[in-house]
Amino acid sequence: MAVKIIRMEGDPVLRQVAKPIPEVTSNIQKLLTDLADTMYDTGNGIGLAAPQIGILKRAIVVDVGEGLIELVNPEVIASEGEQIGPEGCLSIPGVSGDVLRANRVSVKALNRHGEEFEITGEGMLARCLLHEIDHLNGILFTDHVRRMATGAEQRPGKRKK
Ligand code: ZN
Repeated sequence: MAVKIIRMEGDPVLRQVAKPIPEVTSNIQKLLTDLADTMYDTGNGIGLAAPQIGILKRAIVVDVGEGLIELVNPEVIASEGEQIGPEGCLSIPGVSGDVLRANRVSVKALNRHGEEFEITGEGMLARCLLHEIDHLNGILFTDHVRRMATGAEQRPGKRKK
């Protein structure tokens, strides 16, 4: 069990683009385990990306209640539909906001044995995958919230509190 310290908003590591993982070595397997341990230790986390523990490598874990999924070098290969729903982030405690996401995404990645696989998720799983992949590109959900708020200001009738 290796629970790592979760980096908080304001830490520059959260704003950097993580590097692709050329090979799934035992160090990467350990990173995936650390990510899962750290996520489960929070008690309410459903996803965690390596930059959130200070590692700028393209690895994420998610568990929306259907079991742990480990993804190395995840890449969105298809998306469809839209959903708007509340999101939060372990790196931004106490903050939540509505984010527009695709309702269904297919993601290609490597597993902990270096084998390629594809996963298609809808609803919460799609949202979580997209949120974590954003982390690998230095994007936080609050960036999307701000964009939505800006859109709302241009259409006063649609403004929400
Ligand atoms: Zn997050």
